Amino acid sequence: MTLNTEHIRGQFPVLHQEVNGKPLIYMDNAATTQKPTRVLEALSAYYTHDNSNIHRGAHTLADRATRHYEKTRGQVKEFINAAEDEEVIFTKGTTEGINLVAATFGRKFIEKGDEIIISTLEHHSNIVPWQMLCEEKGAKLKVIPINEKGELLMEAFDDMLNEKTKLVAVVHASNALGTINPVKEIIEKSHKVGAKVLIDGAQSSAHLDIDVQALDCDFFVMSAHKIYGPTGLGVLYGKREILEAMPPYQGGGEMIKEVTFEKTTFNDIPFKFEAGTPNIADVIAFQKALEFVNEIGKSAIRAHEEKLLQHAMTQLNDIKGFIPVGTADQKVSVLSFLINDMHPFDVGMMLDAAGIAVRTGHHCTQPLMGRFNIEGTVRASFSVYNTKEEVDKLCESVRKIAKLKN
Ligand code: PLP
Repeated sequence: MTLNTEHIRGQFPVLHQEVNGKPLIYMDNAATTQKPTRVLEALSAYYTHDNSNIHRGAHTLADRATRHYEKTRGQVKEFINAAEDEEVIFTKGTTEGINLVAATFGRKFIEKGDEIIISTLEHHSNIVPWQMLCEEKGAKLKVIPINEKGELLMEAFDDMLNEKTKLVAVVHASNALGTINPVKEIIEKSHKVGAKVLIDGAQSSAHLDIDVQALDCDFFVMSAHKIYGPTGLGVLYGKREILEAMPPYQGGGEMIKEVTFEKTTFNDIPFKFEAGTPNIADVIAFQKALEFVNEIGKSAIRAHEEKLLQHAMTQLNDIKGFIPVGTADQKVSVLSFLINDMHPFDVGMMLDAAGIAVRTGHHCTQPLMGRFNIEGTVRASFSVYNTKEEVDKLCESVRKIAKLKN
């Protein structure tokens, strides 16, 4: 199926501008995606007509805001195929979701001598919270190694698993290389030794069908801003029985049933984990982002992005001095590369001069960059609104830059 990219691009006002005198080519989608008009309008409509605090108000606006907010929870449940709305917790983003699990599940269930497994491909936000927890608890952090293509060495993972493994936290798709990990296999194997599994879905949720029940993961985290939604909003999915067994994250309004100076009883999930006034407007607007993705369909999105990636690789592989970093067989549309021995930042500046927005640097994956003995890469990441013509312009610019050194 071919997407009508012109129609899709018409829904993204930000794309229709010039940068450095050139039409903007936005290829920094792994960092954050642009927002369709309907998301922008939903934000404005909320503040124009419905602005009110939720769950407590006895008045019409509060009721309207609450219904819209809770409707998003239901739509997220559908989007990831959770069993119940209550298993969907709104957070600030993937980072907060992981920190929440480390601070609550981790504090209660991880003990001295226990082991937590992560992988070489992790974003810093799926490394540092576990390091901090391990230090506090006297637990051990183990790291699954990768091969030269940027794929997990699953035999090494098999060897690491044992009855001391309490948690396995792995990224679904790598933000730096694009590698899609065999998460179903990881979850099955981890469960056999009694470990719980957290999947970092920051980079998979906009591209791959997510079915948390079929995956059978215990936790799944994602960020709205990488799925055409607002910034500062994310989702933590957790299985009901695990969420219920976990202590609260933050104390405050909303997360309580009753407070006296002697004792507080906590609210039920999901509210137990949503202390304080939440990000109401962004949650409500996120509905429109999910609607946008659902209208097109993940399989059509993925097919389009895959075509762009193949189209890029065919041209780039012919360029002398082009060095791909991460060539896994299963990838989302992330293209990490170097040109000769040029500094990624210099390449990024030259691409910016051509109107092309890419990411440069370590992509918050310093240990992964260390594995390849590099400091960073140039990263182009494609999305549903990118076109073949834009990919051609990227390749043409890379060819010109590579020639400077050849
Ligand atoms: N995990 C991965 C794989 C990511 O790509 C990112 C963001 O780039 C994060 C976690 C952190 O997401 P956020 O900054 O939205 O919390």
